[in-house]
Amino acid sequence: MELSISESRAVISTLISEYYLKADDIYPDKISEREFGVGDYESKIRSRHISFESKKAFKEYLVKNSPPFISCSTAFYKHPSFRPMENKEWQGSELVFDLDATDMKLPCQSQHGTSWVCAICLSSVKEETIKLIEEFLIPDFGFSKDEIEINFSGNRGYHVHIKKESTFSLDQAARKEISDYITGNGVEPEAFFNLEELKKDTGRTTKKLIGPKITDGGWSGKIARNFIKELEKGYENLILLGMEKSVARNLYKKKALIELGINNGNWDMVYIKNKGDFWKDVLKTQSIYQSDKIDQNVTNDPSHMVRLANTIHGETGLLSKKVSFNELTNFNPMADTVLFDKGTINVIANSENILHLNNQSFGPFKNEKTELPTFAAVYLFLKGKAVFLR
Ligand SMILES: [Zn+2]
Repeated sequence: MELSISESRAVISTLISEYYLKADDIYPDKISEREFGVGDYESKIRSRHISFESKKAFKEYLVKNSPPFISCSTAFYKHPSFRPMENKEWQGSELVFDLDATDMKLPCQSQHGTSWVCAICLSSVKEETIKLIEEFLIPDFGFSKDEIEINFSGNRGYHVHIKKESTFSLDQAARKEISDYITGNGVEPEAFFNLEELKKDTGRTTKKLIGPKITDGGWSGKIARNFIKELEKGYENLILLGMEKSVARNLYKKKALIELGINNGNWDMVYIKNKGDFWKDVLKTQSIYQSDKIDQNVTNDPSHMVRLANTIHGETGLLSKKVSFNELTNFNPMADTVLFDKGTINVIANSENILHLNNQSFGPFKNEKTELPTFAAVYLFLKGKAVFLR
């Protein structure tokens, strides 16, 4: 017999409570200065303005209430539970970047929908996170690996927190500037180019196009390095970026000479029609995707809340896991975050997508009765792809 939704949720709540009873790495720093938001199975944040005086009180709450989601403010407050927001007395906020596979508008998502997550979604958003850290946070902002905390969200994204005291007091305008910089918003590639007049021995003058060098810092160097990277991939790739066929072929033929020139900032060999559109597309391949609505808010809005590291994601039953930068490359979000690995649950499953979880594959299922490991049954139930059986 099928369990009702509330009976099934009760099964999961017991599992969540058991996890929190044993979990020890679930506490944010400055715990008594944070505002917490608690979610249920319908809403990721159902109630907020909650605060905890101590780790002990926080743990007791989680064990007793087994919330499917728990978030906390990136901000620190004198009175985190007071309302309205002004009465909390803001003391500072962590800088947080929220990367989510759905914002990347990947082709796979038009096939499996945005509520499902596939291996391509997960590897793309991981690459984006590595790019954010390696191409922006470390070289351009000077943060060290130790100051960067990475949390897998538990579903299909990563939160990157900057744990550096001097950034806590940044106001919204400064945060917006940082967000604009990494998303390439307002970067004008043509501003990095300059036509220089040269006098020849014959007395005549010629013009030479001087542009970014690969060794330049900031966006200038990114533009140079990325142009070469795109050129290396072949002329078809340049056409994809909106360049005319004949121009792309010609550039590719002179690749070696062009690269030599760009090493020194000489772009004379590079002729591009429709420059504006072309550079916009090159820029897009380099900048970081953050959604305009919520995710830029995470960076810009000091009163935002994000999922707490090492807590449960109530849409997957997986762990929202803290990962160090060195671990990130080999981190497998569909295996390293599996919690409920004991026992099995009988379900009726209905999923056209195969679930790859804990290095095993499940499905596809066409309304079939089957016995699944607890973690797979919970995942499919929470994604609306299975019902539990008694
Ligand atoms: Zn996908």
